[in-house]
Amino acid sequence: MRLVMLGPPGAGKGTQAARLAERLGVPQLSTGDILRAAAAKGSPVSLAARDLMARGELVGDDIVVNCVLECIAEPGAASGFILDGFPRTLRQARALDEALEKAHLGLDAVLELKVDESVLLDRIIYRAREAKAAGLPVRADDNPEALKVRLESYRTQTQPLADYYRTAGLLRTINGLRPVDEVTSSLVAELRLHRKPESEQTSLSRAEFE
Ligand code: AMP
Repeated sequence: MRLVMLGPPGAGKGTQAARLAERLGVPQLSTGDILRAAAAKGSPVSLAARDLMARGELVGDDIVVNCVLECIAEPGAASGFILDGFPRTLRQARALDEALEKAHLGLDAVLELKVDESVLLDRIIYRAREAKAAGLPVRADDNPEALKVRLESYRTQTQPLADYYRTAGLLRTINGLRPVDEVTSSLVAELRLHRKPESEQTSLSRAEFE
């Protein structure tokens, strides 16, 4: 299965992508995690990206697109992947479509988590507190100032992707406000409902849904 998770910061994309990735046996590709890992290594490009990320701004399309196209071409992603945090702009979405088309592949679904904006700040503050309590590093952008910028770029640059994928017949919208397990069940139910005909499935996705 080739899936995209869509939703504002704090909607639970990462949590749900990890759960689906485990169930489906495909990698979760989180551009945020990939960029943070690159920044931690300290290459000049990734250091510039680190500043943008800390402010809540989007990193340039070319950097992110190259990164994702490399990841999905790896053998580990041959039977599918879950993109978590990509695409975030129309340019990124088109670049992904082109690359998949060239490889005679396509997306199976785009899963949009709908969450009321009023709960996002609480979720982000909770995530920062949990990380701190567990002795883990707190994300530089998990604070009210950066969240404001992240929400703005979500509204202006990422939200239009819902229409893009709706037109392509791929969008599945799920209420992300419910308890984590219920959201996972809804996502799995959506995928089962819209699965491809048996002849087009991989043996892995067949096994998962039987
Ligand atoms: P995330 O972990 O998905 O919340 O992403 C954290 C930050 O990484 C974002 O606020 C952006 O600065 C950057 N980032 C992640 N994915 C992308 C993307 N697809 N395009 C541009 N910037 C991204």
